[in-house]
Amino acid sequence: MFEVVIGLEVHVQLNTKTKLFCSCPTSFNHVQNTNTCPTCLALPGALPVLNKEVLHKSIMLGTAIGARINQTSYFDRKSYFYPDSPSAYQITQLYTPIVEHGVLRIDFEDSSHKTIRINRAHIEADAGKNIHDGDISKVDLNRAGTPLLEIVSEPDMRSAEEAILYLKKLHSIIRYLDIGDANMQEGSFRVDVNVSIRPKGDEKLYTRVEIKNINSFKFIQKAIELEVARQVEAWEDGVYAKEICQETRLFDQTKQETRSMRGKEEAADYRYFPEPDLLKAVVSDEMLEKFSVIPELPDQKMARFIKDYGMNDYSASVVTSAVEMAHFFETMMQEGITAKNALTWLTTELQGRLKGEMNITNSPVDAKKLGALVKRIEDGTISGKAAKEVLDYLMENADDVDSVIQKLGLKQVSDIGAIEAICDAVIAANGDKAEQYRGGKDKLFGFFVGQVMKESKGSANPQTVNELLKAKLG
Ligand code: ADP
Ligand code: MG
Ligand code: ZN
Repeated sequence: MFEVVIGLEVHVQLNTKTKLFCSCPTSFNHVQNTNTCPTCLALPGALPVLNKEVLHKSIMLGTAIGARINQTSYFDRKSYFYPDSPSAYQITQLYTPIVEHGVLRIDFEDSSHKTIRINRAHIEADAGKNIHDGDISKVDLNRAGTPLLEIVSEPDMRSAEEAILYLKKLHSIIRYLDIGDANMQEGSFRVDVNVSIRPKGDEKLYTRVEIKNINSFKFIQKAIELEVARQVEAWEDGVYAKEICQETRLFDQTKQETRSMRGKEEAADYRYFPEPDLLKAVVSDEMLEKFSVIPELPDQKMARFIKDYGMNDYSASVVTSAVEMAHFFETMMQEGITAKNALTWLTTELQGRLKGEMNITNSPVDAKKLGALVKRIEDGTISGKAAKEVLDYLMENADDVDSVIQKLGLKQVSDIGAIEAICDAVIAANGDKAEQYRGGKDKLFGFFVGQVMKESKGSANPQTVNELLKAKLG
């Protein structure tokens, strides 16, 4: 009966070495207010100079989303006063941004896709930080003037699920391009969610509410669901026009609600005007060619994995979603193993053993080692069960796969003679059961397999055991 309409604005902190308009370093975990200069402190007379690396990274993003790159773009002043912005304005790109009209594909679990349009991506300067400490507040300007790329979608998403898929894909692209850390907790990937509802079939857009700065995918999902419920309820109670207004709301994770932060009546008049201290940003043909070189992206990598490794869409999208994961997987595949095993051993066995601060980039077992381990299962040297023991050992000890197999005595016995001897001994010791089995008690087969595996201390190749027992028991 209702349709949900969502548009997203994402602020990505670009990982340039220096700030947008000055040469201060962008690392702001330093002593407060030390990474500053007259420009980012907005002292009178200091002039901004555009950082070329920011153009480079913006153009990479524009290329990745198939957007138009404006070879001439402009900067504008957005005026507002806030203690963490000493200039009392923000430099941004309102009228002609660097990147316009791109697209981003989202993939559903059932392998269907949808294209979300991106209206624009523009460059702007970040503010500093207010630090509230008991009853005093301080201002740290280390972050002031850090470059942001704001990526604005069209209102094309129709559910919280679609919004999350869009955000995860955008996040993944930024990591693949390595233009930002995109760390939500640290604020280098900040999301504003615009939500409205409308009767199904209606084409016009209804009043939107903007929910600001939610710092995890899980909370974004929750905030959207709560906000949609609030709007639907207002509609059904006949108070939609009165209660739903264009405003900014905050998501309160402890109270599990959205609430008004500032309403329309408090909406700032930003008095936008062209930034007088900066020249227009001109990208030459030569620069454009150089800056639009980008690495293989998740969609392309996914298509290649499906084609080369015979993976299904879903597995391929799981393994290509994070660039570190895709690289890990590809390195494993160089051992000449099957994609199915590589995927299981990466996503279930290894990731299941990564605890606390550990992740696949600092894992004690690297991709080459894990690939080598899977190789030893596939060539019959060890069983899958033994491989888990090897992996446990390798998580604690720096060693190589083959010597651990040796050390732990896990080498699988595929030597028919040796297994045959064990089979014979087990059958001889359990003559009564062998009789019963031959008499039709099929269930006893498992017993014999179990006994042989036990006698061999788990080292016998189970397939060989099965074949030999079948033959011997008739
Ligand atoms: P502003 O610049 O004031 O934030 P924009 O028109 O640029 O406004 O829109 C900001 C975001 O809100 C965009 O992502 C857009 O897709 C989204 N949006 C606009 N109208 C609606 C609506 N009715 N419902 C949901 N999202 C919307
Ligand atoms: Mg907005
Ligand atoms: Zn500076």
